[in-house]
Amino acid sequence: MINETMYGLGDEPSVIRELFAYGLARKAEIGAENVYDYSIGNPSVPAPALVKETLLEMLETDPVALHAYSPSAGLPDVREAIAASIRERYGVPATAGHVYMTAGAAAAIAISIAAVSHRDDEVVVVSPYFPEYRTWIEAAGCTVVEVPACQPSFQPDVEALAAVIGPKTSAVIINSPNNPVGAVYTRESLEALAAMLREKEVELDRPLYLISDEPYREITYGAEVPYVPSIYGRTIVCYSYSKALSLPGERIGYVYVSDLADDGDAVSVAIAGAGRALGYVCAPVMLQRVAARCVNEPSDVAAYAENRRILTEGLSALGYEYVEPDGAFYLWVKALEDDANAFSERAKQFELLIVPSDSFGVGGWVRLSYCIARDTIERSMPAFAALKASYEG
Ligand code: PLP
Repeated sequence: MINETMYGLGDEPSVIRELFAYGLARKAEIGAENVYDYSIGNPSVPAPALVKETLLEMLETDPVALHAYSPSAGLPDVREAIAASIRERYGVPATAGHVYMTAGAAAAIAISIAAVSHRDDEVVVVSPYFPEYRTWIEAAGCTVVEVPACQPSFQPDVEALAAVIGPKTSAVIINSPNNPVGAVYTRESLEALAAMLREKEVELDRPLYLISDEPYREITYGAEVPYVPSIYGRTIVCYSYSKALSLPGERIGYVYVSDLADDGDAVSVAIAGAGRALGYVCAPVMLQRVAARCVNEPSDVAAYAENRRILTEGLSALGYEYVEPDGAFYLWVKALEDDANAFSERAKQFELLIVPSDSFGVGGWVRLSYCIARDTIERSMPAFAALKASYEG
């Protein structure tokens, strides 16, 4: 008999992917230029030239060695290159033994949850949050505990987090720069969060892990993105090159267990164990080499910055309310009616594909991914005007 939970996950594509698939069908029907697809977070800038150069060079080397399995945690020189970059960029004592290469942040988070949780534990998330967290937490046999972010800053609400952390809590997941709201957590917020977690660890006499999901670390518009391991010892960083190097389909990222955690060596071993239990074997090997070679390659955020400006200026002129994003490439916009699903459905009549907020754990908002062609944003403004007018007429 099939597993009903797995059937449910397979049968119900995420709202984002469903909207994306609808967009592809609609583009085929009425022409791509007539659909304003703000659904999915696929980077719209090409990967840096060094990615192609590295791949081409690799293809000239011995194919047997090139395509061989790597050790499960990754190639030693790749892990060392990443640890060296963490040391140089953030001034923390990172070692290669605490770096574990993964198939993107998704695998990194699923592995991290499994490594530090037991069945029936609780994992705390800040809402709105990336919908797949729930899938991975529940797959580990744990329960999701949602804590709304502060309004209107969308910083973590430390008091509310303290109120739900108890004897069953294994970890808190944070995501800054944030998908879907674009908030970047300030040093002050992170220090308050760390102080609270340290107090709770003493009170509850158990370790509390901070899983820091960081695929958008490089995508910012001037805000400081503090390095979480330098603020809280028991931090597990889940990093990805999907957005930083525009390689989402290639699946490469890593887990970095802070060397400042007193149990960091043991956690690193449990990370390797969780990767093994989940069947990952090793991260894609050619991409591991690309990651090492491009480890300090700057991300190209100029196009996203320009898109952000055009979109926010356009929507603000039309009277839409939104959260000014400091990072990532999403705009969190207030729906024009309480039911975000109904609002997203109505937007489709104007060929606007925008994601309702319910799948992120809150109602009443929509998410716009502005990692799309600038021209699409410019041409979509009359559609946003018509959508707004449809609520006023
Ligand atoms: N976490 C967040 C907040 C994301 O937005 C995404 C992807 O969009 C992921 C994790 C997964 O990213 P990856 O492609 O690295 O698996």
